[in-house]
Amino acid sequence: MHKENTISEDQGDINSSQQRLLYHQSLDKETRYWLEEDAKYFFHQALSTPVMNVLSKTEGPYIYDLNGKKYLDMHGNGVHNAGFNNPKVVEAMMRQMNESLAFTPRRYTNIPAIQLAKKLAEITPAGLDRVLFCPGGSEAIEMAVMLAKQITGKWKTISFWDAYHGTGYQASAVSGQAHFLKGNGPMVPGALHVEFPNYYRNPWNWTDQRAIDDEYLRQIKLLLRNEPDIAAIVAEPISSTPVVPSAYYWQQIREICDREGIFLIFDEIIEGFGRTGKMFASEHYVTPDVLVLGKSLGGGMLPFAGIVSKSKYNILQDSSIGHFTHEKNPLCCAAGLAEIEYIEENNLVENAAQKGEYLMNTFREMQEKYPIIGNVAGRGFHIGIDLVKDPHTKQRAYEEAERIMYRCMERGLAFKIIEGNVITLRPSLVLSQDQCEFIVNTIEEAIKAEMK
Ligand code: PMP
Repeated sequence: MHKENTISEDQGDINSSQQRLLYHQSLDKETRYWLEEDAKYFFHQALSTPVMNVLSKTEGPYIYDLNGKKYLDMHGNGVHNAGFNNPKVVEAMMRQMNESLAFTPRRYTNIPAIQLAKKLAEITPAGLDRVLFCPGGSEAIEMAVMLAKQITGKWKTISFWDAYHGTGYQASAVSGQAHFLKGNGPMVPGALHVEFPNYYRNPWNWTDQRAIDDEYLRQIKLLLRNEPDIAAIVAEPISSTPVVPSAYYWQQIREICDREGIFLIFDEIIEGFGRTGKMFASEHYVTPDVLVLGKSLGGGMLPFAGIVSKSKYNILQDSSIGHFTHEKNPLCCAAGLAEIEYIEENNLVENAAQKGEYLMNTFREMQEKYPIIGNVAGRGFHIGIDLVKDPHTKQRAYEEAERIMYRCMERGLAFKIIEGNVITLRPSLVLSQDQCEFIVNTIEEAIKAEMK
């Protein structure tokens, strides 16, 4: 049975449901054998092991199971902006390995690392021009918060309930989900949380955007009055659900940060590199003090992440906020550089903006026809469809969402459900119009079957 607000549903569909069991029973013998082996050797976790299926290939916007059945993947963990196994990225990596320069020890640099840092300084919003790399997004969040604390001399943070910023004490502390925090005793002190603006689901059932923004901003102002020593506000510009805040909201936060000497840290680990129809989601809003990047920065194949900030903060010569073995890994840097070049050369940012708008409009038309669609939100290729039992009560349609997801899987469309009832669509940016129509038709068919 689903319960309202069960913590395991914050991030995605759970792996212990009856629907998951039925899905596994429908798989062939060999797949089930490997699933059992996987479950035997890996630690079990609510949002990963036991897993969904076994993959044999990931290519372009598709993932393939052991039988060669392909699924248009709407999740990709956010690494697949230029498509899985992108040939340009593969070629850059092969070249790097053939040149026998796939690693450089710290205290040395290499040309791909410098080129990637320069490229990021060029393509990120004006004023962001100083880079530091690390292996993963969680560590990049760690570096961003450390930079803010050391530069401001303050030690508290404000971030948002329900956000996910990574694993590890600092990144988990600024994340807001009990699921990732419980059982660890005290986390990093001074990690305060407020609510992310939500125009569809807010506690007051209001619809006036400005009034909603002001009420959420009031929470932050209240905290600032009562909690001195705030070093940073940490947030995704658009939440992963997604909820798309107004420009007013982020402009107000930017003003507060400037006035109070607080860093604004934008986590664009998912939203960076074109996903929202701009190269960076910050471009819809305001420029942060630190932009945190990851996922697709590793070319869709390698773990790599980093921060881009301002040269005026390049004053920590006597300490190390990111002392990582792979700080300037040339293989990762060559992959990241090729990924960005591919996105630019193939106008994938524009593609996400245009086709994202097509998808949004089409789902909004569908919303008129099917009362199960309570809300459609998003920007570019970052879209959420909130499924409800009743559009007036907005009661979340948990079981329905799960059945729709498995029905779509059967037809070759894979996506993740967030909060137990929100279909999230974050495809590769390489999608064609035909593939967009496939998404729309498949979801519509699955919804129709639910209405019967
Ligand atoms: N921030 C966001 C918004 C993320 O989605 C993730 C990964 N899901 C992270 C941080 C952490 O990144 P990583 O898994 O590379 O540590």
